[in-house]
Amino acid sequence: MGNEELIRERLDVVQGRVAEALRESGRPPDEVRILVASKYYAPEQMAALAGAGVKLLGENKAEDLLRKQEEFGDAFEWHFIGHLQRRKAKDVVARVALIHSVDSVRLVEELAKRAPEEGVEVLVQVNVSGEESKYGVEEGEVEPLLEAAARSEGRVRVRGFATLAPLVERAEDVRYVFVKLRAIRDRLENSWSPHFDLSELSMGMSNDYRVAVEEGATIIRIGRALIEETVGDPLVRRLDGS
Ligand SMILES: *Cc1c(COP(=O)(O)O)cnc(C)c1O
Repeated sequence: MGNEELIRERLDVVQGRVAEALRESGRPPDEVRILVASKYYAPEQMAALAGAGVKLLGENKAEDLLRKQEEFGDAFEWHFIGHLQRRKAKDVVARVALIHSVDSVRLVEELAKRAPEEGVEVLVQVNVSGEESKYGVEEGEVEPLLEAAARSEGRVRVRGFATLAPLVERAEDVRYVFVKLRAIRDRLENSWSPHFDLSELSMGMSNDYRVAVEEGATIIRIGRALIEETVGDPLVRRLDGS
């Protein structure tokens, strides 16, 4: 089987499980977008992703984003999901539809300065699990970021929140992370609705996307589940005794 068919087959599996999780948790179908993490693919492998029906990519590195967009810029919707250094903000800001990893007031200010006329959409990355993760801001630091974005007069539009759950054996063990991110959003949604539509929750990866969907994810970020057949497969994991 060619690479393209393999990717398509595994993407089908993920889509099926997402649909099931939406149904079982009483959420409407089509409420979750599947983003594929493009860091696992070299520029010459991008055609296989497009051929397999992948629509939405998330890149981690500014340099790789530039290289891959040279040839495949129009083939996908592009998001940025990696840690964004301030000095790279200008390279990324006009090239992506959404930045999932905004984690400082200074980055918000840099994006406001560098954003094109129409502005840029971002998610605030929250470190929900505390010491276990080094990415994102703590809950108490979220509002200063929203305030900085509100000062940008439409240049930086916050669309919601993202989080990276710690890697665990059983996805159940990180359910609390997803529950908490949604609770943070729910708490801030009303008071911030004059400024921002905070409806997006980017949470869940290959290991735990099912649980994330049950808890309200609107974007899941998938990498290894398209590469290794057994990743994210609850049946295989149960046979392992986990
Ligand atoms: C690589 C990556 C993913 C995908 O992780 P998998 O475990 O391979 O599914 C998701 N989010 C971010 C920020 C990543 O860097």
